[in-house]
Parts: sequence; C-alpha cells; structure tokens
Amino acid sequence: MESIKSLLLVQDRDIRTLRLQRLKTEIPERIKAVDLEVQESTTALEVNKSSYRKLEAECKTLELDIQGYEEKIRKWTTQRAQIQTNREYQALTSEIEEARHRIQELEDQILERMEALEVLREGVLRTDEQIAECRRDGEDRKQKLRQQLDNIDEELANNRREREEFSRAIPEDFMALYERIFRSKRDIAVVGIENGICQGCHLRVTPQVAVDAQTPDRIARCENCGRIVYII
Ligand SMILES: [Zn+2]
Repeated sequence: MESIKSLLLVQDRDIRTLRLQRLKTEIPERIKAVDLEVQESTTALEVNKSSYRKLEAECKTLELDIQGYEEKIRKWTTQRAQIQTNREYQALTSEIEEARHRIQELEDQILERMEALEVLREGVLRTDEQIAECRRDGEDRKQKLRQQLDNIDEELANNRREREEFSRAIPEDFMALYERIFRSKRDIAVVGIENGICQGCHLRVTPQVAVDAQTPDRIARCENCGRIVYII
C-alpha cells in the first residue's frame, strides 16, 4: 500500500508533466492566434472608418457638383433676361430646367449618403477607442501566455525533482511496470477499484484481483485493461 501511495504521487507528477509539455507547445500557437485575432478585429474596425470617410468625400463632391449647376443656372437666368428671340429663350429655359432636375438628383444622392453616415457615425466615433482597447487586450493576453510559458520550465523541473523523490520509495520492478503501462496508456496507469469496478476501464474485476489489490506488496492488475489497481 505504501508503494501504491508513492506510485500515485509519481503518476500525478507524470500527468502534470504531460500537461505542461502539451502547454509548452500550445502556448506559442495561442500567442500567434491572439495576434491574428487582433489584426482581424482592427481591420474590420478600420473598414467601417474608411467607408465613413469615403461617404463623406462623396458628399463633398456631390455638393461641389450642385454648386456648379447653381452657378450655371444663375448665369443662364441673367442671359435669358437679355434674350430677344423666343427660340433662344426656350432653349435656355430647358437648360435651366435640366440643371434644376440634375440638382434634385444630386441632392437625393447626398441624402442617401447622409443616412448611411448616420448609421455608421456612432460606431466610427468609437472606432479608435475600440482599436486601442482591442490591442491592449491582445497585449494583456499575450503577456499572460508568455508568463505562463516562462513558468513552465521551472514547473517541469520541480515536477521532475518531486517525482524522483517519490519514486525512491517504490521497488524497481514495480516502477518499471508502472512506467510501461503509463507509456502505453498515455493517460493513467494506476487506478482504484470502487465497488468491484476498475476505474480505468469501468469493468468489474475478478474476485482474485480484488483480493490481490488488498494484499500488501502484491501488484494487482485489472485483467481487462492491464492497469495497476488498488482498493479505494
Ligand atoms: Zn480496468
């Protein structure tokens, strides 16, 4: 039973080591994923901003066009007052009407853009703030991950030390068997029997195994999964 206790401690450190090694390879990937996420979010936010600027610029161009037509109308109206023939008068009048009609169309286009700007405005006003927030958040997350990564080697070394200490209390053949099972199962090699059920494979163990599991210094193994068993 003493061996089992030490073995469980060794197993705990082995499981922890596996988890830490996995983390060690995963963390750089996670850091990259944070960078990508921040980049995608800021690009999405910038898109809103640039479409807002584009709409604003379009409105300005349209307003200039309108001013151009208004100037023409003023000029034509003055010219028309001095015209003598009916035909010329009619011609200028239809030019003026055409220009007025065009102004109406341009005003409608401006209105459409103003409505779109209104929809975007609130989001755009917060965009810079959101981008800064997004970057800050990304940096925080990366900093935590880097810190975690820095600690892993130390934790692994501690784990190794503790494992060595615990394994000293375990007979060599027992230890060798444990290591073989742990490698092949890749998760857990020593499990309890609870109400006659092996907690590794969840099948019932034979009465002999149950008896062996209670006998001091005897190694009992589940006949189904091969794990080392002990009575909880
Ligand atoms: Zn089993």
